Amino acid sequence: MGNYTKPIKNKEQQLTELAQLVAALDTSPLYEFRIENNYKPVFGEGSPDANIMFVGEAPGAQEAETGRPFVGRAGKHLDSLLSLIDLQREEVYITNIVKDRPPDNRNPRVTEIEFYSPILREQISIIQPKIIATLGRFAMEYIFKLFQLPLDGKKIGEIHGTALHTFSELGETTIVPLYHPAAVFYNRNLETVLKTDFEILKKLA
Ligand code: URA
Repeated sequence: MGNYTKPIKNKEQQLTELAQLVAALDTSPLYEFRIENNYKPVFGEGSPDANIMFVGEAPGAQEAETGRPFVGRAGKHLDSLLSLIDLQREEVYITNIVKDRPPDNRNPRVTEIEFYSPILREQISIIQPKIIATLGRFAMEYIFKLFQLPLDGKKIGEIHGTALHTFSELGETTIVPLYHPAAVFYNRNLETVLKTDFEILKKLA
């Protein structure tokens, strides 16, 4: 083979291959539900060179029907928060921990989070975002664990909007826990909180 060198794949190619792997993951605890409902896996979308990566929980019905993250009601709210800080969806990267829709909009189970965990880790490792903004409790807990940040029983209400700087094999990353954009549907007061936290994100980006 002489001077053969393995071709280096760019970020987009690596993400495409990973998305193909997710589509073929028939060992997923949610695979049967995906097939029964003619749903699509929701891998994530946005710029492979994004500075900011948003990590949500799991796709809902509209996401599973389209194969795109955050396109339903919560997604519309996320879009408006992004435009508040002059960002388009295409400039950031948006994904979830769990890549298939859990039935009845229930919370993702530990087994499901663990199953998809290597996929999200790989997405982070490919994109190497400067900032990871977690949306909601599940994403916050998952990312804190991944980056070995101590949560010490703290709730999202205590640490939302705080920038936590980390150094790990995934690079130099700032983690910012945020409320889930759907949280305002249950508590209107969180609208101002989310807006203020997005302004913080803008300053960091
Ligand atoms: N909620 C999430 O956490 N993710 C989505 O993609 C949609 C709604």
